[in-house]
Order: sequence, then C-alpha cells, then structure tokens
Amino acid sequence: MHFPSQQAFRKFLPMFDRVLVERLAAETVSRGGIMIPEKSQAKVQQATVVAVGPGSTNKDGKVTPVCVKVGDKVLLPEYGGTKVALDDKDFYNWSDESFEEMDSTLAVQQYIQQNIRSDCSNIEKIMEPPEGQDEGVWKYEHLRQFCLELNGLAVKLQNECHPDTCTQMTATEQWIFLCAAHKTPKECPAIDYTRHTLDGAACLLNSNKYFPSRVSIKESSVAKLGSVCRRIYRIFSHAYFHHRQIFDKYENETFLCHRFTRFVMKYNLMSKDNLIVPILEEEVQSATVGESDA
Ligand SMILES: [Zn+2]
Ligand SMILES: [Zn+2]
Repeated sequence: MHFPSQQAFRKFLPMFDRVLVERLAAETVSRGGIMIPEKSQAKVQQATVVAVGPGSTNKDGKVTPVCVKVGDKVLLPEYGGTKVALDDKDFYNWSDESFEEMDSTLAVQQYIQQNIRSDCSNIEKIMEPPEGQDEGVWKYEHLRQFCLELNGLAVKLQNECHPDTCTQMTATEQWIFLCAAHKTPKECPAIDYTRHTLDGAACLLNSNKYFPSRVSIKESSVAKLGSVCRRIYRIFSHAYFHHRQIFDKYENETFLCHRFTRFVMKYNLMSKDNLIVPILEEEVQSATVGESDA
C-alpha cells in the first residue's frame, strides 16, 4: 500500500474529530455490461485514512477518540469533505462521523469479485465465506454477481438466439418455461425470456421493499432467492441444450454454470431434479458429501 511521505502529515494534523483520507482510484466494472444498476456503488467512494485528529471534546471536557485509525479503508459519502493538497497530491478532510468502515457488504461484493478474478475455477475458494460472514448477505451478494455475469452470457446468446428460431424458452423437450415478467406469465421467445428474467431479477435484488439494506437481509427476503435461482438457471439450460458452442466457450472462460450449480446445492436453493445441465456430476457429488443417496 502506498502512503504519502510522513513529512506531509507533520504539516497537517487534523483537528478534533477530523480525519484526512486519500481516495482510492475508482475501479471500473466492465464484465459483460451491467444490467443490475449499481445504485449504491455508483455513489460510493473508497478512501484510506492517512491521519486522524485527537477526537472531539464534549461539554464536560471529555475527549471522544476518533473511531478509525491510520490505514483503515473507509467509504465516503457522496458530498462533503474538504480538499487538501499536500505533496502535490489531493487529500480530503472529513469529519469522523461521515463515513462507515468497509466491513459493509460492498466489501463482500469486492471480496467475491476479487476471488473470481484471481481464479474463476477455484469454486471452493469463491464459495467459502470469510469468518463471521452473515449467510443471508453472502447468498444475496453471490446471486447479484451471478446475474451480472449471466448478462455476459445473454450478450453472447444474442448473436445466435433469435426470436424467430428460438420462439420459446425451452431446454430439453419436456420443458417450456413461461416468462414470469408479465402480469400473466406467457411464452416469450428465448432471448426475450432471458432479458425479461435478468431484468426481473435485477429489479427484485435492488428493490427497497425486499432488500432495503445490503448489510443485513431479512429471512423472508432470503426466501425469495430460491425462485430467482430457478428462473435464471433456465438461461443456462437453454444455452446448453440449444447453443452448445456458446455455452461451452463461456463456461470455459468463466466456470459460471459450475459455480452456480455448486452455489445452489450448497445453500439448498434449488432441487437436484431441476439441475438439468449434465456437466456437473462431480460438482454435485462433492457439494452433497455427507448426505445419503437414498
Ligand atoms: Zn435460443
Ligand atoms: Zn417475457
């Protein structure tokens, strides 16, 4: 980690509960276009604390120490802060109360994405929550990530999956899926179904009613995740049974279906019978180790 010279900070000691931070460069999110509006993320800016004041003094003269320390990563609100130029670099002076520490879900999302980037085939590692991680949030953030990456598959499918050739959302012969994005569920061409379903999932996952916070998630809302999983899984099955080359290429690059299958097995979000893409024998088995095969 880079820290500016100590000398700069001797010239600048924040007063009271003020904190000096250095902004981190914004990370570009570009994987396959973004369908989920990252409404909270767009505003969030990250920073590293580089100097802290001694704390605020209350009316009895008692000092309340600042709650962050040098080196902490923090999230900045959209507005406020005072720019300070030191050593030819810009820093920002904030009040201690204005930001939260990054033990929030944004950190969870980053943690997941970082593991995927470093090795998307290391499913074990990607699925392993950090110590003490809230399970509802963990599942929720994974599902957001799956939707994001499924959007990449949808973009690839567009080249081949046309409404006049794939007139229905099908997988194997016995399944025609009705699109639930309409007042009365109906048969949409596969590519429309794909878009409608990803839109619907994004809407639900971003809804203030069901998911007002990304820090803690109500049990009743966690229950919604299973139905999202079932619907978006149909995109995998359609791709696998009708656009095999596209599926295989994307799967080789991302392990997305492998990861998704492991995820829904691990958290019991879909029944085994519905997992019809037959590439995952070994995945399914290792995910259900310890259960009897009865
Ligand atoms: Zn198709
Ligand atoms: Zn539709």
